Amino acid sequence: MNTMERDQAYVAHTYKRFPLEIVSGRGSLVRDEAGREYIDMGSGIAVTSFGAADPEWIRAVEEQLGRVQHMSNLYYTAPCARLAEALCRRTGMSRVFFSNSGAEANECAIKVARKWAAENKSPDCSTVVTLRNSFHGRTLTTLAATGQDHFHELFQPLTPGFEHILPGDLDSLRALVRGGKVAAVLIECVQGEGGVVPLDPAFAKGLQALCREENLLLMIDEVQTGNGRTGKLYAYMHYGLEPDVVSTAKGLAGGLPLGATLMGDRVKDVLGYGDHGSTFGGNPVCCAGALSVLNRLTDDFLADVARRAALLRGLLEGAPGIRDVAGLGFMLGLRTEKPAAEVISACMERGVLCLSAKEKVRLLPALNIPEDLIRRAAEVIREACRP
Ligand SMILES: *Cc1c(COP(=O)(O)O)cnc(C)c1O
Repeated sequence: MNTMERDQAYVAHTYKRFPLEIVSGRGSLVRDEAGREYIDMGSGIAVTSFGAADPEWIRAVEEQLGRVQHMSNLYYTAPCARLAEALCRRTGMSRVFFSNSGAEANECAIKVARKWAAENKSPDCSTVVTLRNSFHGRTLTTLAATGQDHFHELFQPLTPGFEHILPGDLDSLRALVRGGKVAAVLIECVQGEGGVVPLDPAFAKGLQALCREENLLLMIDEVQTGNGRTGKLYAYMHYGLEPDVVSTAKGLAGGLPLGATLMGDRVKDVLGYGDHGSTFGGNPVCCAGALSVLNRLTDDFLADVARRAALLRGLLEGAPGIRDVAGLGFMLGLRTEKPAAEVISACMERGVLCLSAKEKVRLLPALNIPEDLIRRAAEVIREACRP
C-alpha cells in the first residue's frame, strides 16, 4: 500500500484530502513524494508562520527538545513563563492560560465568561453571544458557539447557553441583554472559515460600547487572525478594541500545537486553582517555538507583512475572473467566476497550493513569504482564474 491507500484504509474519513503527499519543505516551498515543488499559499491553515522547517524556529525548538520535552503543569518551566510574559507585554493583557488548540482556547474563554458572570452579575447569567457565520471550533461547546447551523445538525444536543446575532445587528444583542442572561460576546475580527469576511469597524466599536454599558465581556477569537497574520500582532488592534479575553492558537507556535487564552485585568483572577487545566498545555517545546515566533513579530516585520500582503492583493485585485478580494493582511479571500474548487485544482497542477473558505479561494501564506514567490504564485492564480 502507498500512503494514500494506507491513509484511506486506516485514518477516519473526516478530511477530503487532495491527492498529494507532502514530504518536506523549506519556507514557502514544499515538495511532494515525486519531488515536485509547490508554493504553499496555505501554510497549514495559517499555522507555519515562518513556513516549513524554518532554521531559526528549528533551533529554538531543538534547544528545548534537548533539555526536557514535557514536565506537566505541576512544575515551573521557563518557556511557558517567558511566553506568557511576552504575550502580556505585547497586548496589555494580564494573564494567560495555555492549551493545545483553538477550540480549547475558546473553551477556556467560555469558562472564564461563565464563572465571571456567575460571580459578578448573577448565577443564571451564562449566555455567550456570537455572530452568524462564525467558526469557533469542533468540540461540542465551541460547535454550539459556531454560528453556522450545518455544523450543529448531526450532534445534538450541544452545550446550551449560546445565541447568534447577525454581524451589524446591535438591536438583537440589546434585546438579548434585556433578558438578563448574557455574560459575554465572542467575535472574530475577520471570519476565516466563514469565507474571509472582515467585521465592519463601526459595528465593532458599537459592540464594544454596548459591552461596556451592559457590563458584558468582550472576547475575541484570534485563532486564525492572530500572531501577525493580518499585519498587526492581533487583528483587534486594527479595530482599536480593548478586549477582556483573547483566544489564539494556529500560528502561535509556528507549527506545534499550542493554544492560549489571554485574560485582561477584569478577569485575570477568575480562574483559580483547579478551575481549569490541561496535561499538555504550555508544553515547553511548543512554548519555545512560540517564543521564537513572537520575538520575530517586531513592528518592522509586521509592517513588512502588511506591505507584502498589499503587493499580493494588488496583483490579484481586478484580474479577469476575480470578482473581488476581501480580507486583511495575509488573510485573503477571492470571489472567483469559476468555482473555487476548480481554481484550486488548476493552481495545484501548476505548483501552487491554495485553500478554500465557503465559496472563496482563501490564501494564508507564511508571514515571511518572499516577494518573488508572491509574484510567481499570483501569476499562477491569475491564470487559473481567467475565464
Ligand atoms: C481554526 C479555528 C478554530 C479552531 O481551532 P482548532 O485548533 O482546530 O481547534 C477556532 N476559531 C477560529 C477562528 C479558527 O479559525
